[in-house]
Amino acid sequence: MILIIFGPPGAGKGTQAILISENYNMIHISTGNILRSAVKEGTGLGELAKSYMDNGELVPDDVVIGIIKDEIKKSISGNGFLLDGFPRTIPQAEALDRMLNSEQLKVNDVLSIEVTDEEIIKRISGRRVCEKCGAMYHNSFDPSREKGMCDNCGENLYQRDDDKEDVVRTRLQVYREQTEPLKQYYENADLLSEVDGLGTIEEVSDRIEKVLKSMAK
Ligand code: ADP
Ligand code: ADP
Ligand code: ZN
Repeated sequence: MILIIFGPPGAGKGTQAILISENYNMIHISTGNILRSAVKEGTGLGELAKSYMDNGELVPDDVVIGIIKDEIKKSISGNGFLLDGFPRTIPQAEALDRMLNSEQLKVNDVLSIEVTDEEIIKRISGRRVCEKCGAMYHNSFDPSREKGMCDNCGENLYQRDDDKEDVVRTRLQVYREQTEPLKQYYENADLLSEVDGLGTIEEVSDRIEKVLKSMAK
Protein backbone atom coordinates (compact mmCIF):
# COMPACT_ATOMS: atom_id res chain seq x y z
CA MET A 1 0.00 0.00 0.00
CA ILE A 2 1.24 3.48 -0.88
CA LEU A 3 -0.38 6.33 1.02
CA ILE A 4 0.06 10.08 0.99
CA ILE A 5 -0.76 12.03 4.10
CA PHE A 6 -1.65 15.52 3.04
CA GLY A 7 -2.56 18.76 4.76
CA PRO A 8 -1.41 22.22 5.80
CA PRO A 9 1.56 22.77 8.12
CA GLY A 10 0.69 21.69 11.65
CA ALA A 11 -2.40 19.70 10.64
CA GLY A 12 -1.10 16.58 12.38
CA LYS A 13 0.38 14.75 9.38
CA GLY A 14 3.50 13.60 11.20
CA THR A 15 1.57 12.53 14.30
CA GLN A 16 -0.88 10.44 12.30
CA ALA A 17 1.80 9.12 9.95
CA ILE A 18 3.67 7.61 12.88
CA LEU A 19 0.50 5.88 14.12
CA ILE A 20 -0.36 4.49 10.68
CA SER A 21 3.18 3.29 10.05
CA GLU A 22 3.15 1.43 13.38
CA ASN A 23 -0.30 -0.09 12.87
CA TYR A 24 0.30 -1.19 9.29
CA ASN A 25 4.02 -1.83 9.46
CA MET A 26 4.65 0.70 6.72
CA ILE A 27 7.71 2.86 6.16
CA HIS A 28 7.20 6.51 7.09
CA ILE A 29 8.91 8.87 4.65
CA SER A 30 8.92 12.50 5.80
CA THR A 31 10.74 14.96 3.55
CA GLY A 32 10.64 17.52 6.39
CA ASN A 33 12.44 15.11 8.75
CA ILE A 34 14.99 14.16 6.10
CA LEU A 35 15.72 17.81 5.33
CA ARG A 36 15.95 18.75 9.03
CA SER A 37 18.49 15.94 9.67
CA ALA A 38 20.52 17.10 6.68
CA VAL A 39 20.57 20.66 8.04
CA LYS A 40 21.58 19.39 11.48
CA GLU A 41 24.40 17.28 10.05
CA GLY A 42 25.54 20.14 7.83
CA THR A 43 25.61 18.06 4.63
CA GLY A 44 25.53 19.62 1.16
CA LEU A 45 21.82 18.93 1.00
CA GLY A 46 21.34 20.60 4.37
CA GLU A 47 23.26 23.70 3.33
CA LEU A 48 21.19 23.99 0.21
CA ALA A 49 17.87 23.48 2.00
CA LYS A 50 18.42 25.60 5.09
CA SER A 51 17.65 29.09 3.77
CA TYR A 52 14.45 27.92 2.09
CA MET A 53 13.29 26.19 5.25
CA ASP A 54 14.20 29.09 7.52
CA ASN A 55 12.15 31.42 5.34
CA GLY A 56 9.18 29.05 5.13
CA GLU A 57 9.65 28.56 1.39
CA LEU A 58 9.65 25.23 -0.42
CA VAL A 59 12.96 23.57 -1.21
CA PRO A 60 13.27 23.33 -5.04
CA ASP A 61 11.38 20.48 -6.69
CA ASP A 62 14.42 18.77 -8.26
CA VAL A 63 16.11 18.51 -4.84
CA VAL A 64 13.10 16.99 -3.08
CA ILE A 65 12.30 14.71 -5.99
CA GLY A 66 15.89 13.40 -5.81
CA ILE A 67 15.45 12.61 -2.11
CA ILE A 68 12.17 10.81 -2.71
CA LYS A 69 13.65 8.73 -5.52
CA ASP A 70 16.30 7.38 -3.16
CA GLU A 71 13.80 6.76 -0.35
CA ILE A 72 11.34 4.95 -2.58
CA LYS A 73 14.10 2.74 -3.97
CA LYS A 74 14.96 1.72 -0.40
CA SER A 75 11.31 1.14 0.55
CA ILE A 76 9.96 -0.63 -2.48
CA SER A 77 10.42 -4.22 -1.32
CA GLY A 78 8.63 -3.72 2.02
CA ASN A 79 5.04 -3.60 3.12
CA GLY A 80 4.36 -0.24 1.51
CA PHE A 81 5.12 3.31 2.52
CA LEU A 82 3.56 6.49 3.68
CA LEU A 83 4.58 9.85 2.26
CA ASP A 84 4.35 12.71 4.76
CA GLY A 85 4.98 16.22 3.41
CA PHE A 86 5.52 15.04 -0.16
CA PRO A 87 4.32 15.88 -2.79
CA ARG A 88 3.85 19.60 -2.15
CA THR A 89 3.63 20.87 -5.73
CA ILE A 90 2.06 19.60 -8.96
CA PRO A 91 5.48 18.88 -10.54
CA GLN A 92 6.37 16.78 -7.46
CA ALA A 93 3.12 14.82 -7.81
CA GLU A 94 3.77 14.23 -11.50
CA ALA A 95 7.31 13.08 -10.81
CA LEU A 96 5.99 10.69 -8.15
CA ASP A 97 3.46 9.23 -10.59
CA ARG A 98 6.23 8.65 -13.14
CA MET A 99 8.50 7.02 -10.57
CA LEU A 100 5.80 4.66 -9.36
CA ASN A 101 4.60 3.95 -12.86
CA SER A 102 8.02 2.73 -13.90
CA GLU A 103 7.80 0.15 -11.08
CA GLN A 104 4.20 -0.82 -11.93
CA LEU A 105 3.06 0.82 -8.71
CA LYS A 106 0.61 3.57 -7.91
CA VAL A 107 -0.65 5.71 -5.05
CA ASN A 108 -3.53 3.92 -3.29
CA ASP A 109 -4.99 6.81 -1.33
CA VAL A 110 -4.42 10.41 -0.29
CA LEU A 111 -5.56 11.20 3.24
CA SER A 112 -6.22 14.91 3.43
CA ILE A 113 -6.29 16.16 7.02
CA GLU A 114 -8.76 19.04 7.24
CA VAL A 115 -8.26 21.62 9.98
CA THR A 116 -9.15 25.28 10.46
CA ASP A 117 -6.54 28.08 10.39
CA GLU A 118 -7.29 28.78 14.03
CA GLU A 119 -6.39 25.20 14.96
CA ILE A 120 -3.24 25.28 12.79
CA ILE A 121 -1.96 28.27 14.74
CA LYS A 122 -2.67 26.57 18.09
CA ARG A 123 -0.99 23.35 17.02
CA ILE A 124 2.09 24.99 15.52
CA SER A 125 2.66 27.47 18.33
CA GLY A 126 2.71 24.67 20.92
CA ARG A 127 4.69 22.12 18.88
CA ARG A 128 7.94 21.00 20.51
CA VAL A 129 10.45 18.57 19.02
CA CYS A 130 13.21 16.46 20.58
CA GLU A 131 16.69 17.67 19.64
CA LYS A 132 17.98 14.15 19.43
CA CYS A 133 15.31 11.73 18.18
CA GLY A 134 12.85 14.15 16.55
CA ALA A 135 9.89 12.95 18.65
CA MET A 136 7.03 15.42 18.59
CA TYR A 137 5.07 16.91 21.45
CA HIS A 138 2.61 19.69 22.08
CA ASN A 139 2.79 21.97 25.12
CA SER A 140 -0.87 21.51 25.98
CA PHE A 141 -2.33 18.84 23.67
CA ASP A 142 0.37 16.17 23.88
CA PRO A 143 2.88 17.14 26.57
CA SER A 144 5.96 15.12 27.50
CA ARG A 145 5.91 13.56 30.97
CA GLU A 146 8.56 15.97 32.20
CA LYS A 147 8.38 19.50 30.92
CA GLY A 148 10.91 20.28 28.19
CA MET A 149 12.32 16.72 28.15
CA CYS A 150 11.81 13.90 25.65
CA ASP A 151 9.99 10.79 26.94
CA ASN A 152 12.06 8.52 24.67
CA CYS A 153 15.57 9.76 25.22
CA GLY A 154 15.54 12.45 27.91
CA GLU A 155 16.98 15.12 25.62
CA ASN A 156 15.78 18.73 25.42
CA LEU A 157 12.73 19.75 23.46
CA TYR A 158 12.93 22.81 21.23
CA GLN A 159 10.67 24.92 19.06
CA ARG A 160 11.44 24.68 15.33
CA ASP A 161 12.70 28.01 13.95
CA ASP A 162 10.11 27.85 11.21
CA ASP A 163 7.34 27.40 13.80
CA LYS A 164 7.77 31.02 14.89
CA GLU A 165 4.91 33.30 14.00
CA ASP A 166 6.24 35.29 11.03
CA VAL A 167 7.55 32.19 9.24
CA VAL A 168 4.30 30.33 9.89
CA ARG A 169 2.44 33.05 8.02
CA THR A 170 4.66 32.51 4.96
CA ARG A 171 4.28 28.73 5.20
CA LEU A 172 0.51 29.00 5.20
CA GLN A 173 0.59 31.26 2.18
CA VAL A 174 2.96 28.90 0.36
CA TYR A 175 0.61 26.04 1.24
CA ARG A 176 -2.42 27.84 -0.21
CA GLU A 177 -0.64 28.83 -3.40
CA GLN A 178 1.53 25.83 -4.23
CA THR A 179 0.30 22.82 -2.30
CA GLU A 180 -3.46 23.09 -1.94
CA PRO A 181 -4.02 22.73 -5.73
CA LEU A 182 -2.87 19.13 -5.29
CA LYS A 183 -6.23 18.34 -3.70
CA GLN A 184 -7.87 18.86 -7.08
CA TYR A 185 -5.12 16.82 -8.75
CA TYR A 186 -5.87 13.81 -6.52
CA GLU A 187 -9.62 14.40 -6.56
CA ASN A 188 -9.41 14.12 -10.35
CA ALA A 189 -7.55 10.85 -9.96
CA ASP A 190 -10.29 9.70 -7.55
CA LEU A 191 -7.76 9.19 -4.78
CA LEU A 192 -8.66 11.92 -2.30
CA SER A 193 -10.09 11.01 1.13
CA GLU A 194 -10.87 14.04 3.26
CA VAL A 195 -10.49 13.37 6.98
CA ASP A 196 -11.77 15.74 9.66
CA GLY A 197 -8.56 16.66 11.52
CA LEU A 198 -10.24 18.41 14.47
CA GLY A 199 -10.54 16.62 17.79
CA THR A 200 -8.04 14.57 19.74
CA ILE A 201 -5.19 12.61 18.17
CA GLU A 202 -7.14 9.39 18.89
CA GLU A 203 -10.33 10.69 17.28
CA VAL A 204 -8.49 11.64 14.11
CA SER A 205 -6.67 8.33 14.11
CA ASP A 206 -10.01 6.46 14.37
CA ARG A 207 -11.34 8.37 11.36
CA ILE A 208 -8.26 7.44 9.35
CA GLU A 209 -8.67 3.83 10.44
CA LYS A 210 -12.20 3.84 8.99
CA VAL A 211 -11.00 5.17 5.66
CA LEU A 212 -8.25 2.56 5.46
CA LYS A 213 -10.64 -0.25 6.39
CA SER A 214 -13.14 0.82 3.74
CA MET A 215 -10.33 0.82 1.18
CA ALA A 216 -9.40 -2.74 1.98
CA LYS A 217 -12.88 -3.93 1.00
P1 ADP B 1 5.06 20.66 8.34
O1 ADP B 1 5.04 19.28 8.94
O2 ADP B 1 4.85 21.67 9.38
O3 ADP B 1 4.15 20.81 7.19
P2 ADP B 1 7.54 19.80 7.18
O4 ADP B 1 8.36 19.24 8.27
O5 ADP B 1 6.81 18.84 6.31
O6 ADP B 1 6.53 20.87 7.79
O7 ADP B 1 8.42 20.73 6.24
C1 ADP B 1 9.27 21.72 6.78
C2 ADP B 1 9.93 22.47 5.63
O8 ADP B 1 10.74 21.57 4.85
C3 ADP B 1 8.98 23.10 4.62
O9 ADP B 1 8.53 24.39 5.03
C4 ADP B 1 9.88 23.18 3.38
O10 ADP B 1 10.80 24.25 3.47
C5 ADP B 1 10.67 21.88 3.46
N1 ADP B 1 9.99 20.78 2.76
C6 ADP B 1 9.50 19.64 3.31
N2 ADP B 1 8.94 18.85 2.38
C7 ADP B 1 9.06 19.52 1.20
C8 ADP B 1 8.65 19.25 -0.14
N3 ADP B 1 7.99 18.12 -0.47
N4 ADP B 1 8.95 20.17 -1.09
C9 ADP B 1 9.61 21.30 -0.79
N5 ADP B 1 10.01 21.63 0.45
C10 ADP B 1 9.74 20.74 1.44
P1 ADP C 1 2.34 18.31 10.70
O1 ADP C 1 3.24 17.13 10.48
O2 ADP C 1 1.12 18.29 9.83
O3 ADP C 1 3.07 19.61 10.60
P2 ADP C 1 2.30 17.50 13.51
O4 ADP C 1 1.93 16.07 13.48
O5 ADP C 1 3.71 17.86 13.75
O6 ADP C 1 1.76 18.24 12.17
O7 ADP C 1 1.38 18.22 14.60
C1 ADP C 1 1.53 19.60 14.90
C2 ADP C 1 1.41 19.80 16.41
O8 ADP C 1 0.07 19.54 16.82
C3 ADP C 1 2.28 18.87 17.23
O9 ADP C 1 2.73 19.58 18.35
C4 ADP C 1 1.34 17.73 17.64
O10 ADP C 1 1.70 17.19 18.91
C5 ADP C 1 0.00 18.46 17.74
N1 ADP C 1 -1.14 17.63 17.31
C6 ADP C 1 -1.20 16.70 16.33
N2 ADP C 1 -2.44 16.19 16.20
C7 ADP C 1 -3.22 16.82 17.13
C8 ADP C 1 -4.60 16.73 17.51
N3 ADP C 1 -5.46 15.91 16.92
N4 ADP C 1 -5.01 17.55 18.51
C9 ADP C 1 -4.17 18.40 19.12
N5 ADP C 1 -2.86 18.52 18.81
C10 ADP C 1 -2.39 17.75 17.83
ZN1 ZN D 1 13.98 12.15 22.00
